Amino acid sequence: MLADSYGRVATDLRVSLTDRCNLRCTYCMPPEGLEWLPKPELLTDDELLRLIRIGVDLLGITEVRFTGGEPLLRRGLPGIIAGTTELSTRPRTALTTNGIGLARMAPALAEAGLDRVNVSLDTLRPDVFETLARRRRLSDVLDGLAGAADAGLTPVKVNAVLMRGVNDGEATDLLHYCLERGYELRFIEQMPLDAQHGWRRDTMITAEEILAGLRAEFVLEEADAGTRGSAPAELFHVRGVRFPNGEQATVGVIGSVTRPFCGACDRVRLTADGQVRNCLFAREESDLRSLLRGGATDEEIARRWSEAVAVKLPGHGINDPSFLQPSRPMSAIGG
Ligand code: SAM
Ligand code: SF4
Repeated sequence: MLADSYGRVATDLRVSLTDRCNLRCTYCMPPEGLEWLPKPELLTDDELLRLIRIGVDLLGITEVRFTGGEPLLRRGLPGIIAGTTELSTRPRTALTTNGIGLARMAPALAEAGLDRVNVSLDTLRPDVFETLARRRRLSDVLDGLAGAADAGLTPVKVNAVLMRGVNDGEATDLLHYCLERGYELRFIEQMPLDAQHGWRRDTMITAEEILAGLRAEFVLEEADAGTRGSAPAELFHVRGVRFPNGEQATVGVIGSVTRPFCGACDRVRLTADGQVRNCLFAREESDLRSLLRGGATDEEIARRWSEAVAVKLPGHGINDPSFLQPSRPMSAIGG
């Protein structure tokens, strides 16, 4: 088990497949991109699959989420998914993606055994998309969402980050769009994880503001009282609205900054270059790649991994005066 000293157990592994991306979302990357990890430092598909197997077979991982950077840019993605879902104790699998290329790839990903996707969509307006993501790709993202639903990668979830003065007026439009198509929308508070260190507490849109904006048009009723468990999103039923499949419609709000859920966290992260991080905001990493490449046994790797999780701090500390942003940006950690 991957237990820490506060009684939490990590069962949800977030694997970053690449730090590269074909968008440049302002809350994540600078316009010129970043210095990408050199290829020799990246885990190969086989190395990655060995670590996932150790996580699942020896350490109790039950859910594997592939992310990045943009995970659809990783050439071996279908093989990595297939290798994961063929493990004797099959973990649940999910993918967090910006959706570009998903329309084309969704059938192959479903065939490889992927269970579901989260697609990031912050706006429905092409001009705002270009301001926010610095690329003209909105229609590709919308096609990707539809392709994922058609391929059965459901429930399709949508992640949205609201930025003041940019897309914060679109919360209800995004919700209408998702409700009509059966996508489960989740708003995420912007976190201090951008490479440019441009996050400011006084300009971020809070969970409370998001909910107030949605309530101007919808009646939201708490949907997860007592059942939230380790889920970061507070879930709400949208009163009187059903998804096209007849199920009660929901919307979620992830108040990472103002309503932290660290006490129930069950996540652990593996970067594309083989470093274990026990938190998005961790300032230390454990180097599994050197162990792998140095000929360590599965048990030795599992031990180092457990030690990395054991020292996890109780919370992310964003709200402490002494908070320091991690040196790796979100795109290189795996969001
Ligand atoms: N490229 C993929 C995507 O955009 O979905 C996967 C990686 S991205 C880092 C994962 C998620 O993190 C996205 O939903 C994105 O909106 C979110 N994200 C990135 N930077 C963020 C920030 N500073 N605060 C909150 N969420 C952020
Ligand atoms: Fe790329 Fe995702 Fe970061 Fe946007 S949030 S720049 S899509 S990694």
